[in-house]
Amino acid sequence: MRPFHYEHAADRGEALKVAGAHQGAAYLAGGTTMIDLMKLDVLRPTALVDINALAKDHSEIRADASGLKLGALARMSDVAADPSVRRDYPMVAQALDLAASPQIRNMASLGGNVLQRTRCPYFRDTGWSACNKRHPGSGCAALTGVNRKLAILGASEHCIANYPGDFAVALAALGATVDLEGPKGRRVIAVEDLHRLPGETPQVETTLLADELITGFTVPAGAWARRSLYLKIRDRQSYEFAIASAAVALDLDGGLVREVRIGLGGVAAKPWRAHEAEAALRGQPLTEASAEAAAHAAFAQAKAPGELAFKPELGRRTLVRALLQAQAMEV
Ligand SMILES: Cc1cc2nc3c(=O)[nH]c(=O)nc-3n(C[C@H](O)[C@H](O)[C@H](O)COP(=O)(O)OP(=O)(O)OC[C@H]3O[C@@H](n4cnc5c(N)ncnc54)[C@H](O)[C@@H]3O)c2cc1C
Ligand code: SF4
Repeated sequence: MRPFHYEHAADRGEALKVAGAHQGAAYLAGGTTMIDLMKLDVLRPTALVDINALAKDHSEIRADASGLKLGALARMSDVAADPSVRRDYPMVAQALDLAASPQIRNMASLGGNVLQRTRCPYFRDTGWSACNKRHPGSGCAALTGVNRKLAILGASEHCIANYPGDFAVALAALGATVDLEGPKGRRVIAVEDLHRLPGETPQVETTLLADELITGFTVPAGAWARRSLYLKIRDRQSYEFAIASAAVALDLDGGLVREVRIGLGGVAAKPWRAHEAEAALRGQPLTEASAEAAAHAAFAQAKAPGELAFKPELGRRTLVRALLQAQAMEV
């Protein structure tokens, strides 16, 4: 590990000030991604600004008639265990519960979770020189290498890394927004707009401005939130990232789909909202056939070379199963 400056920030203002004073600074919350990647020499911040003291202002978990408000420093385990989240936003609780391990969920914050980095093996191993995300212009070892866990949606010829997290997929599906505060003030953006597609610049992963802090998330209330679930398919049933996942929320009018929200995880370069699949289902009866048609729409643009060939079919089956399971929920 390389030497770095370390400082606790007492509040938002101090966090922004310290980050602004050190070029190449990074924020530290639970540290479960940041410290890992520093030890691997993948991330080399000049300074770590510890923002855990901001939890006093930014760890709320509040559900009311307008929606669900979550502080960026709330811990994954606390949000997953909250009775109102479990009852009114089961998809959110499940996405958090099915992630990582209990120890990690106790440490990890929501803000850090959303900003976790890809698990592409070539990104995490500096022994590989070709990785456009670590070294722009160096190439992409994954294109012809071990890539079965990577992206089939939203990837580019410069990077096929997938976004590995679960929680942000649920947030994107539910149309959540993220509260930001930076040196130039506060703003609110859609979670769907927080992560960028790789294009020609895979090293630029988000639309965050310099030193901008995530302070919280808002999930709007909706008739679909209670009939929602997160289905995660992985190589082993615990302590593993998604190979494919589907976050599904349904508002049914008898057998008809009045409204539907769909997010896809494990398969895409960013937390993925499946708008085409939603459009295919809206106003239609929900049957196995219509769910399959929606799943085909969701993966119509998938590109799956080499080891990834199995993934569109797995993604489609995951979505069909999630839709039919959500339909069968008693709410
Ligand atoms: C073995 C293992 C298995 C895992 N499995 C899963 C899984 O199945 N599903 C899943 O979703 N995740 C999984 N994770 C990822 C884990 O959930 C994340 O590491 C964790 O949520 C990150 O949160 P943190 O608070 O520790 O972030 P940190 O490590 O502190 O920070 C992560 C990044 O976010 C930035 N950051 C943190 N907070 C803020 C903020 N408020 N504003 C701006 N920037 C901020 C940091 O600068 C850093 O770049 C796994 C991790 C490990 C180690
Ligand atoms: S897929 Fe992206 S992260 Fe992985 S090696 Fe290629 S450029 Fe690097």
